[in-house]
Amino acid sequence: MSCSSYQDPGNDTAVIVPVGDVDRGLLDELRKGLEEKFFMPFNIGRPADIPEEAYDPGRGQYHSSTILNILRHEREGKKVLGVIDRDLYVPELNFVFGEAELRGRVALISVTRLRQGFYGLPEDDAIFFERVLKEAVHELGHTCGLGHCKDPGCVMFFSNSLADTDRKGSSFCARCRTRVRGRS
Ligand SMILES: [Zn+2]
Ligand SMILES: [Zn+2]
Repeated sequence: MSCSSYQDPGNDTAVIVPVGDVDRGLLDELRKGLEEKFFMPFNIGRPADIPEEAYDPGRGQYHSSTILNILRHEREGKKVLGVIDRDLYVPELNFVFGEAELRGRVALISVTRLRQGFYGLPEDDAIFFERVLKEAVHELGHTCGLGHCKDPGCVMFFSNSLADTDRKGSSFCARCRTRVRGRS
């Protein structure tokens, strides 16, 4: 399994798809960050509309899997990462930070709960960006076939809360990194 074009640079490109309005500066930063983590070029694709059929008025949230399915229609990209600024859920959970197709092509993250302002705290761009990067690397890691990692410092550690997200790094631990690069 390989998720990187490290050995064959220029062959594969991933695409970041803004779903609805997403800050362009954030997407540019994210693109750079992901290229460093995955040794793969990332483009920013054409924005997709937020599918209103994904909205659950009772919960006031959007169904993550519905949006993930729509991202499959994106024609560009070996990997497709959707970024949305709406709160996401799956039926079993109160909310999700993101969702991905394990060993697949598509992943989705929500930036809504990653802002300090969501919790009534003063905004902090640096903290916000670190969280966005971690969630994006994590979900794309799933598309590369990685499951959750027991190392609390590894980006593939399961975040139950933002405290977990803030504690972990934005990088793969040595074991996960080896798997992403296809050397094992
Ligand atoms: Zn996960
Ligand atoms: Zn790991």
